[in-house]
Amino acid sequence: MTPKDSNFTTLFNQHNWQDVKKSIYSKTNNDVERALSANTRTLEDFKALISPAASTYLEQMAALSQHLTQKRFGKVIQMYVPLYLSNECNNICTYCGFSYDNKVRRKTLSPIEIMQEVAVIKKMGYNHVLLVTGEANQSVHIDYFKKVLKLLQPHFSQISMEVQPLEWKEYSELKALGVNTILVYQETYHQEDYKKHHPKGKKSNFQYRLETPDRIGKAGIHKMGLGVLIGLEDWRTDSFFTALHLTYLEKKYWQSKFSISFPRLRPFSGGLEPKIAMSDRELAQLICAYRIFNEEVELSISTRESDIFRDNIIKLGITSISAGSKTNPGGYAVESQSLEQFEISDERSATEIAQMINNQGYEAVWKDWFLLAN
Ligand code: SF4
Repeated sequence: MTPKDSNFTTLFNQHNWQDVKKSIYSKTNNDVERALSANTRTLEDFKALISPAASTYLEQMAALSQHLTQKRFGKVIQMYVPLYLSNECNNICTYCGFSYDNKVRRKTLSPIEIMQEVAVIKKMGYNHVLLVTGEANQSVHIDYFKKVLKLLQPHFSQISMEVQPLEWKEYSELKALGVNTILVYQETYHQEDYKKHHPKGKKSNFQYRLETPDRIGKAGIHKMGLGVLIGLEDWRTDSFFTALHLTYLEKKYWQSKFSISFPRLRPFSGGLEPKIAMSDRELAQLICAYRIFNEEVELSISTRESDIFRDNIIKLGITSISAGSKTNPGGYAVESQSLEQFEISDERSATEIAQMINNQGYEAVWKDWFLLAN
């Protein structure tokens, strides 16, 4: 295998979950202070910043994270909105309302229905849309994506996608049709728990998913989004593996940009309780830790989080936010009662969120100017 064809699996296999966990939980105040004062930070520093020892340094971390974010990104928050195209899915995922074993009516939007949804989204002011689907290869496949992208390209300056893992040639085709960003969350880097939560369907292949960002990078996609579903496993250990993955990808696909999301398990129809709950304070610590560790990475927060939390986190390191979201296909205009993926927590409109951002002295931006300039 040539270096160009190598992928993250090799590096991943050099790390043992239990050893990493032990190392994070044994970090001391000295380790945290060294991480806070360092000029450049290593993965060991990241471990210190997400450790229990760092929880008493949250104020210091928040101030540093705010400073670094404003230095790199200014006082700007990018706005985006999800457009759910389909809730059909052949996978069983224990944490998702679209799971195959959830016996509810399924729906995939037709071109006419998509344009009805687009009309509402455009009225809200959006130029950045995130397309979301389940994994149903008989109806939601590469040809469907290509048709949808041709429809949407004239209406949006930025199109992101969160769909099933694809081959790198397919990613290249999506790029040619205007896709800027692909999000693919590993859900958890704990292999045994991954198997428990993905017992059926293509998603049960841990390694194929683990190597997906490599295929996205190989296709030259402008930006890729990583993350885990917080609540499936120990969030500190899972976050270390995300940071390890990010560091590897940044080095190898240096022309791409990266974003991290922090989805916490939310209630849904027939739902799963988090194995390990994460408090708001711990989520704030994690967001600050990412920013202090990596000044370039974009950090995104969705409507899964409460209005109070989102209001308070704006200044601490976040660079993009969704608002006015619906997590069901047709939710904006066509069929408001179809099956949703998870319950929204912050139900305020896009205008209200933009106002909240402006009230905090930040600018809500509906177009990624940096992207357009590059
Ligand atoms: S998480 Fe994705 S793959 Fe799993 S059931 Fe939900 S939509 Fe399908």
